[in-house]
Amino acid sequence: GGFESLGLSPNVYQGIKRKGYKVPTPIQRKTMPIILSGSDVVAMARTGSGKTAAFLVPMLERLRGHDSQGGVRALILSPTRDLALQTLKFTKELGRFTDLRTSLLVGGDSMENQFEELAQNPDIIIATPGRLMHHLAEVEDMTLRTVEYVVFDEADSLFDMGFAEQLHQILTQLGENRQTLLFSATLPSALAEFAKAGLRDPQLVRL
Ligand code: AMP
Repeated sequence: GGFESLGLSPNVYQGIKRKGYKVPTPIQRKTMPIILSGSDVVAMARTGSGKTAAFLVPMLERLRGHDSQGGVRALILSPTRDLALQTLKFTKELGRFTDLRTSLLVGGDSMENQFEELAQNPDIIIATPGRLMHHLAEVEDMTLRTVEYVVFDEADSLFDMGFAEQLHQILTQLGENRQTLLFSATLPSALAEFAKAGLRDPQLVRL
């Protein structure tokens, strides 16, 4: 199973080729077909495994193009500003043949600039939990109800960094009809509990 066997649309497939990926990494080979089928997934994967593309490619395939009416349709939560920036870079590269719009909501950047980005109707938000909650508190008409694809990336780090409370609050703001993915190097019990609360019959993928 190479990338060509996944049945991706041409614009997504071209993005992968342009990025220079020739064969999927093991975590990509295991997770992508399951994610593309619509299931929730808990994936045990470390940085360096190719986990980012494992959730970005199915996201791009699902969203396909900009929807000016649709609100925010995908949300990626990262533990750190650096990881969020890296994920934004991959999203732009892999999605270069789509017209999807992405906003980055991380601490350390001005709220004003982020308000302006949000006004452009992004399809995808990549955020750290604290800054996302800040926006949800400040902007009355901001909603996560339209989100249909959610990724908790490096979830063990999200918990280690003290975001558990924010993550549970974010869960309550998401719509029911969504696909939820959790990527983590380890699965401590607090995280397993979180997955139970936030994911629907998740498939567990380990290498
Ligand atoms: P990640 O684990 O997502 O941080 O990715 C680690 C590195 O692997 C990044 O530099 C990716 O661009 C690269 N990478 C991801 N998937 C592939 C692939 N299928 N072929 C070659 N490199 C890849």
